[in-house]
Amino acid sequence: MAQDQNQQVVFLPEGARRTRGRDAQRINILIAKAVANAVKSTLGPKGMDKMIVDDLGDVIISNDGATILSEMSIDHPAGKMMVEVAKTQDDEVGDGTTTAVVIAGSLLEKAEKLLDDEIHPSIIVKGYRQAAAKAKEIYADIAEDISLSDKLLLKQIAMTSMTGKSAEGAEELGELIMKAITQIATEENGKAVIELDNIKIEKKVGGSIKDSALIQGIVLDKEVVHSGMPSKVENAKIALIDSAMEIKSPETDTKVQISDPDQLQAFLDQEEKILRGMVQKVKDAGATVVLCQKGIDDIAQHYLAKEGILAVRRVKKSDMDALAKATNARVVSRVNDLTSADLGKAAIVQEKKISGDDMVFVEGCKNPKSVSLLVRGGTEHVVDEAERAVHDAIGAVSAALNVGKILYGGGSCEAEVAFKLRDYAKTIGGREQLAIEAFAEALEVIPRTLAETAGMDPIDTLVALRSKHSAKGGITIGINVYSAKLDDAKKNKIIEPLKVKTQAITSASEVAEMLLRIDDIIAGTGKSRGPAMPPGMGGMGGMGGMDM
Ligand code: ADP
Ligand code: MG
Repeated sequence: MAQDQNQQVVFLPEGARRTRGRDAQRINILIAKAVANAVKSTLGPKGMDKMIVDDLGDVIISNDGATILSEMSIDHPAGKMMVEVAKTQDDEVGDGTTTAVVIAGSLLEKAEKLLDDEIHPSIIVKGYRQAAAKAKEIYADIAEDISLSDKLLLKQIAMTSMTGKSAEGAEELGELIMKAITQIATEENGKAVIELDNIKIEKKVGGSIKDSALIQGIVLDKEVVHSGMPSKVENAKIALIDSAMEIKSPETDTKVQISDPDQLQAFLDQEEKILRGMVQKVKDAGATVVLCQKGIDDIAQHYLAKEGILAVRRVKKSDMDALAKATNARVVSRVNDLTSADLGKAAIVQEKKISGDDMVFVEGCKNPKSVSLLVRGGTEHVVDEAERAVHDAIGAVSAALNVGKILYGGGSCEAEVAFKLRDYAKTIGGREQLAIEAFAEALEVIPRTLAETAGMDPIDTLVALRSKHSAKGGITIGINVYSAKLDDAKKNKIIEPLKVKTQAITSASEVAEMLLRIDDIIAGTGKSRGPAMPPGMGGMGGMGGMDM
């Protein structure tokens, strides 16, 4: 390397920035805390919303941690790791994203204090690990059973998950979600199995959230293709076709030389004959409804209409799959291969006007294990946020059923785990005890934040909450954000799945441990980051690479 050999040992490319030791930890913790603080105020029913405006000026208004973080463009690696926490939580459970991120931020904040007291990061990591394992154990201990027959509880899980996201309509949506899930759930060895693909969410702007509906079957955001077709077919026999009902245009440039008008007529007749033949095939198979993934030629439409067949074109692939499942049909690629055995069944297929737009409803399907949730709302922002709320709620209810366990929220379960962790810490002793106690305190960020959103004094509230949990029968005491008092979360039916809480602990403690173990940040290779390089030396950037 053409570099000054008398310099200190240089093993980094030019322009690279390096931060080591406590400074590195401090920066990572600072960033992680900032990310957590960005979503903290959205926690719970009294949480606030965030408005995010992207580069193109598109606006998103959301209360959902995962959504907010994924829309913010976060650059720093520590910040990105926090975003990952939200993503993992969203993928694994579909709810509890804010909780996970806020706990991670709080774990790091408490760790910072320990670092200031000269406790080595490896001790903190060890203590945190023990605490996380114990916390999950305690959660499982205090959790209660739930099964498919507990309909009211399932609805309340959905409602707990949605409160704060859709101001009104949580009750109605909760009912729909409970119905949708209990309907598509199957039981295997006494455990509920839920295939979320069987619930299709369709959004439509217009009306209000309360107009949302559960449809026993599939809703297509399409219209019947030809006005001469029936808009309603009962006892429908449905053909699913994934190729175009059109004459294929030749792939190579082809010239057809026509020398007299008769020939032209013969040519057109031929085309018409082929299309007519396709329609005849559909009719012979006994289909009364055709749902086509591609286009349908005008002439074919005309003959289908003449036969009284209802047809829809350009149906989405995912809808075709759902339709095949719901109606028991087989998707056919060549119309000429269609037979009666390929047809699916539905009690009724009809076109309905929803806020001025036509949609086709395929209802009363053979396999009732497929349903659609039609989410409505006054404006696009409302519908989008309602859809996110529904997504979270569906995740929460199915997570509760998958594991078969629930906990009570409002910060009550976190307070209980914190209380029991402190007892556990005493049995460990030494410096790790301090780390475990810090972990316990970090978990209390949940009741503390809920108290803040309700306008309660966070410190007084925590003191009172701790004393409730140290007394008998205090396990389910948490924050009532509406009355701004301590209250029984069980009595108030604030119910959450065990899995939301254990997953949040797992992801939050993992990211905290990972960040604590870092004592060296090396950023930039100097290749693209011009500013760090003195002018005149620019040409050397290209020679970068480690020079060890
Ligand atoms: P997350 O993204 O973590 O799910 P939420 O904004 O949905 O964040 O808030 C979840 C928190 O709000 C949980 O701790 C839950 O117990 C609490 N919560 C939900 N409903 C209530 C309620 N009615 N009263 C108090 N706390 C509630
Ligand atoms: Mg939630």
